[in-house]
Amino acid sequence: MDSVPLHHVWQYTDVDRRFWEEHLEPWVPARVFDAHTHVNEPELRIEMMTDEKRRQYWVNEVGEPIGAEAAGHCHATVFPGREFSCLAFGFPMLEYDIARSNARLQPECVRRGWHRLAVVRPQWPAEQVARELDQPNVLGVKVYYALISHDPTTRDKHLEASIFDFLPHHQLELLNERRAWVTLHVPRTGRLGHPENVAEIRQLRRRYPHVAVVIAHLGRCYTLAHAKESLPRLADDEGLHFDISAVLNPEVLRFALATLGPERILYGTDNPIMYMRGRQQWQGRTYVNRTSYPFYFNRDREPPAVEAGYTLYMYEALRALRQACDELGLTRDQVEAIFHGNARRLIRGIGFA
Ligand SMILES: [Zn+2]
Repeated sequence: MDSVPLHHVWQYTDVDRRFWEEHLEPWVPARVFDAHTHVNEPELRIEMMTDEKRRQYWVNEVGEPIGAEAAGHCHATVFPGREFSCLAFGFPMLEYDIARSNARLQPECVRRGWHRLAVVRPQWPAEQVARELDQPNVLGVKVYYALISHDPTTRDKHLEASIFDFLPHHQLELLNERRAWVTLHVPRTGRLGHPENVAEIRQLRRRYPHVAVVIAHLGRCYTLAHAKESLPRLADDEGLHFDISAVLNPEVLRFALATLGPERILYGTDNPIMYMRGRQQWQGRTYVNRTSYPFYFNRDREPPAVEAGYTLYMYEALRALRQACDELGLTRDQVEAIFHGNARRLIRGIGFA
């Protein structure tokens, strides 16, 4: 069969169809809820991407925005025969017109039956955040340290910020009142296990117990070493949830499921980034992203025969999740909860049907 254009430079090919048939078709549940996906109309990028910037930072080469129409096409392509829905939000970066991106995504979510998180800056007064939460299908907010202030050369200027620098108390009071959802990408080089992150998340949970906190990317634990030093420290807080978006490592997924329990884990992709082809490899506390497209950053390539077998990152992530679930002997009900039920339970807790 022919390749189908997916997104950016990526195609959906026979390799992907075979991978789906072999590893995923018999296992992925009938209903899929992607709790972490970025949808942002490309024309709302206000600072143009240049070749110079693409050469500076690898994410600039892969992070092309995807609009709602194209996102819908991709969902139908990569999840054939599945009832799909998602929690969508824009790119949380000041290269985009955040307010207009929120406004543009809103009617798309209502029309398509998706839910939305509003991307909010920490400087926004509570009334401005409240106006976002007042709209239909909006569950809460997506916050990020890159929204503190703009630096065109890096996304990590505020990497060492406190969580409360980009998720401030005046917003948390409102979010607590509204029982809103917050997807939290933790700061700091030490990732989730950094003592200040653990202390701040505990403080946040104590002071604002009604906020539905979802830690993105398992707290950025992409290696087993990071997972082991982080996840046990928050395992006792049963109200804390985690999305597994962008986690491709089966050992990390297995450890997370065993440590936190499957009822606190939400499936998510981090698309459109995970339409990238290739695989990730891990060693100790580091990892390398392998891919087949001749990006500037992609200098250390694998042999052509290996690259020819690459599938989508999101399919590698699904196979890793399957492996972890199989090894732990999870029941079908538990697998379905990860893909759908846990998110639905959280959504009901916010007061949505
Ligand atoms: Zn993301």
